Amino acid sequence: MVSSSELNDVAERIRACTRCPLHLTRGRAVPGAGNPQAQIVLVGQGPGEHEDAAGVPFVGPAGDLLNHLLTTVGLERSDLWLTNATRCLPSEERLPNQREVRACAPYLLREIDIIHPMVVCPLGNLALRILLRKNVPILQYHGKAISTQRYFLFPMIHPAAALRRSDYLPLIKKDFQDLKIFLESNPSLEPPPGQESLF
Ligand code: URA
Repeated sequence: MVSSSELNDVAERIRACTRCPLHLTRGRAVPGAGNPQAQIVLVGQGPGEHEDAAGVPFVGPAGDLLNHLLTTVGLERSDLWLTNATRCLPSEERLPNQREVRACAPYLLREIDIIHPMVVCPLGNLALRILLRKNVPILQYHGKAISTQRYFLFPMIHPAAALRRSDYLPLIKKDFQDLKIFLESNPSLEPPPGQESLF
């Protein structure tokens, strides 16, 4: 049974965080949210303006699209833990820089440690880079499971990509279908004989 108090403790630390300059300009820091017993954790890039105002992940248009995509594969937010690679919105329209990402990563890793899910889905390049510990493009890795010693990584294209470029939508929909197929295959973390797990 996952301890909600440990997750609350991480959330409190995120809300009070001053590890990088983004704390000076954020509205609200955004801890993970959802079902502490979840077997699936989705990891976005970081809060947008709606999340910055609400202090809750995935509540803006990207969240609405995510909710819709989840229902197409029979999942709901309450089945999952939703979180982000970074927790504070930069004041200018830009990606979080390396220092900010490094300062934030321990919160994500701690949430995953506490929840101990079967599958962690990095949505987009930034979350993939942190979880895979390699700078690789999401377009090369999405829609396929990678086994690690503790969980499966299942990289997916970020739903927000479809808000900027509608031609991404079919690929994003397919990632959700592929996730469903993967979950239904009763995956086991035991590597087949002769195959090493990644780390
Ligand atoms: N909202 C989030 O919480 N994360 C994202 O990556 C995008 C929108």
